[in-house]
Amino acid sequence: MAGCRFPAMAATILIVEDEYAVARGIQYALQQEGYQVAVCRSGEEGLEFALREGPDLVLLDVRLPGIDGFEVLRRLRTSGSKAPVLILTARDEEMDKVIGLELGADDYVTKPFGLRELMSRIKALLRRAYGDLADAGGGRLLRHGDLLIDLERRRVQRGERRIALTATEFEILRHLASRPGRVYSRRELLELTRDYEALDQDEKTINVHVSHLREKLEDDPSSPRFVLTVRGAGYAFAER
Ligand code: CA
Repeated sequence: MAGCRFPAMAATILIVEDEYAVARGIQYALQQEGYQVAVCRSGEEGLEFALREGPDLVLLDVRLPGIDGFEVLRRLRTSGSKAPVLILTARDEEMDKVIGLELGADDYVTKPFGLRELMSRIKALLRRAYGDLADAGGGRLLRHGDLLIDLERRRVQRGERRIALTATEFEILRHLASRPGRVYSRRELLELTRDYEALDQDEKTINVHVSHLREKLEDDPSSPRFVLTVRGAGYAFAER
């Protein structure tokens, strides 16, 4: 359905909630904080989306049409998802909290809740799961799957693993990842990064930097997922 997708790379939060007004209110508040937010309005849709897109955090209503929030949570955890899950429970359903936490929820909020309280719970969960990178919102954080690039602090992480890059490697990654799909020629990358290591004058040195970058970044550097070679043209960051 429309709206049930992430528009771009950023810290991502999935809301699974069938009540339109509630979902929209939370979505708006999160967007104001700089997060990328998707809303799914049924358990099936939310589960499929979460497994496909791997959001940073899931806000999960318990009472949903079709499979309920508990079942979504159970299947998420069974599928190996470790994304923090915050469940939304009704005030008169005390057992929801217990069941939710037993099934692997990280926290819960009781309806009706204040948006400010919800925001602080979400931030606390993100910080707990991803460390201080989670604080960066609003475009200073580039994200692709479990790869996080903090432009302000010049830090790169995959999941919880910090990746140390040279200044040139970081610049190459920053340029490529800022515009997924856009092809950069070696000449262009050389010019964009030249200031950082004055000795780099040969376009071929870009190949060396990219090769080091891939060794640090990719699961299999010979079959990269992030930094792709565009034959005869240069390099591009993978589009989602
Ligand atoms: Ca509901």
